[in-house]
Amino acid sequence: MSLDAFLDDEELISRIGELRKKRNAVILAHSYERPEIQDIADYVGDSLELSRLAARTDADVIVFCSVHFMAETAKILSPQKIVLLPAAEAGCPLADMITPTQLEAEKEKHPGAGVVAYVNCSAEIKAMADVCCTTANAVQVVEAMPQDDILFVPDQYLGRWVQTQTKKNIILWAGCCPTHQRMKVKDILDLKKEYPAAVVVVHPESNGDICDQADAILSTSQMLRYCQASPASTFIIGTEMGMLHRLRRAMPEKTFLQPSKGLICPNMKMTQLEDVYESLKELRHPIEIPEPIRLKALKALDVMLAAVPTK
Ligand code: SF4
Repeated sequence: MSLDAFLDDEELISRIGELRKKRNAVILAHSYERPEIQDIADYVGDSLELSRLAARTDADVIVFCSVHFMAETAKILSPQKIVLLPAAEAGCPLADMITPTQLEAEKEKHPGAGVVAYVNCSAEIKAMADVCCTTANAVQVVEAMPQDDILFVPDQYLGRWVQTQTKKNIILWAGCCPTHQRMKVKDILDLKKEYPAAVVVVHPESNGDICDQADAILSTSQMLRYCQASPASTFIIGTEMGMLHRLRRAMPEKTFLQPSKGLICPNMKMTQLEDVYESLKELRHPIEIPEPIRLKALKALDVMLAAVPTK
C-alpha cells in the first residue's frame, strides 16, 4: 500500500493545492458533490455552467468532480484540454436509461419530430439529437425548434414540465432520476406544517405531484439566484442534498431545509479527496470521445447555445 493512503484530509488538501498549481489545473465541482469537495473547488455550479467555465479557462487540466456525462460535456467543449473524472465509476442512472439503439428506434417511430436531448445523457445521445437543453433553458430550446412534435429524452419529468409551458407536442422518453423520485409529497407537506412561511423550491426532475407543491421550479443555478433575491428567510429545497451546502455557504443568514433524508445521489458522492489527489497526481481517468461523435455532440450543444445564449 502506498504511503499516500495514510494522508489525512489537511495533508490531502495541501497536496491538491500544490498539484493544482504544478499542473495548471482547475477543479470544478457540481452542486451535488460532497461538502469537502465543493470547498476545495475553484468553481461550484451546474453541469453546463461548469463546462462553459472549463472552455473559457486557460488551465491545461480540468478536474471535473461530478459524474461521467458532465465530464464528457466539458471534453466536448474543450477537446484540447485534459479532462479528468476523479471517480471513474461515477455514472448517472438517468443518462443510462437511453441507448443509441433505443433512440434510433424512437426516431424512426417519429420521423418528423425534432430531437431534444437534456444534457444529462451520453455523448452518443447528444450526437444523435438536433439540440441539447438544460433544466434552465429547456422551455426556450423547445420553443425555438421549427418542428411542432418534439421527441424529448431522457428525463420524462423535465419533459412533462416543459409540456406544461409550451403548445408543442412533447413525446416523452420514460427515463427519470432515481434520486429526485425519492422525494414524497408528504415530506414537503410535513415540513410546510412545521415551517408555514417556508418557500418551496424544487428541481424539474421531480415528479409532477412534487412540482404542484412548489412555489418555484428551478435548475440548481436558478435556485441560488432565486433564494438570494427572495425576501424569504426559510426555504424547502427539493433537490439533491449537496445543494444545501452550496446555498448555506452562499447565504449563511438564511435557513435551508431538506424535505427527505433520502435525497442523496450515490454517484455524486463517490468523489473523495483521495480521488481528486490521485487524479491530479497521475492524471488519472482522462475522458476520451471519438472525434466524429464529439463533433456531432458539439453541434447539438452549439445549436442550444445559439438558440438560448446563457449568462
Ligand atoms: Fe443522475 Fe440524478 Fe444523480 Fe443527477 S442526481 S447524476 S440526474 S442520478
